Amino acid sequence: MDNRKILQDFPKAELGFFPTPVVKLTNLSRHLGGPEILMKRDDLTGLALGGNKTRKLEYILGDALAKGCDTVVTAGAQQSNHCRQTAAAAAKLNLSCHLLLGGDKPEESTGNLLLDTLFGAQLHYCKGNRKGEDIPRLVEDLKSQGHKPYVIPYGGSNELGAIGFVEAGFELAAQIDTDTLSHVFFASSSGGTHAGLMIAKSMLKHQYMLTGIQIDKAESSAGEFKQRVLALANSTSDALNLNQVFNSEDVILDDGYLGAGYGVLCEPEKSAIQLLAKTEGILLDPVYTGRAFAAMVDKIGSGKLVSGQQILFWHTGGAPSVFAYADKLL
Ligand SMILES: *Cc1c(COP(=O)(O)O)cnc(C)c1O
Repeated sequence: MDNRKILQDFPKAELGFFPTPVVKLTNLSRHLGGPEILMKRDDLTGLALGGNKTRKLEYILGDALAKGCDTVVTAGAQQSNHCRQTAAAAAKLNLSCHLLLGGDKPEESTGNLLLDTLFGAQLHYCKGNRKGEDIPRLVEDLKSQGHKPYVIPYGGSNELGAIGFVEAGFELAAQIDTDTLSHVFFASSSGGTHAGLMIAKSMLKHQYMLTGIQIDKAESSAGEFKQRVLALANSTSDALNLNQVFNSEDVILDDGYLGAGYGVLCEPEKSAIQLLAKTEGILLDPVYTGRAFAAMVDKIGSGKLVSGQQILFWHTGGAPSVFAYADKLL
């Protein structure tokens, strides 16, 4: 059976350049003396400096267009990669874009925030509410002005967003021999990437261990985030009419690297960014991939991943925010 057929009922807006490359991190593997390390370059999806949200937005905005919406509304932190990619996609698709960002209006815009403005998004500053708490009020305003708004949840993590990562899992399987992979690592934060990759892995019966490195401390208590990934994997599986029910053991989430909290750059993230930049000439970001990559390097250092194994890091993007962290990276 052609697995991609299960995706064809979902309207898609083409926004990126796929497949993204898979590269071998030869210098780094040699430097660490551990396993062979591959990298899936979703930092190169092509839309507005790339990132994992491009895959989600292809299906989410495909739906928005099919429903005749003229405006998109979403939320995130000021350095949200999701908001930046949404703003660019909206520009390309002739949609208006409203972004609800955490905090107060800063004196200067840099990194993703600068790009949001260049893509013509309208910005709303919502102080502590960086996860879309203020969206319903804005949506009512937009409707009363005669617009047809389409709400994209925090991080683009709903069933349609996750379907973008089911497709990504198929894409990887067509590029490399996944039977020789022992582990796949990635940064997990709103759950869509994780849920989608879980479904692809299960459909294709891949044996590697799929580990999300949890990024956001806010939801770490009592396995709350794990439950959300699980629920999304199951609702996405339903949306695709698959007979696959996931259990809590199927969600592998490592919450051992939460550091000082979401968006706080400390020594592990800084070292990881410098290490990959100097060995491979590849940029990680301070919030997501820097943290997840630091976790993987730590596991190599402590002998949990060893020479003879082949592992893959799924690079989910985010590099534009290095500029917003310039003073802490030097
Ligand atoms: C959003 C994001 C993630 C997390 O992906 P989720 O699907 O939200 O879990 C990881 N890395 C980067 C760079 C991101 O922007």
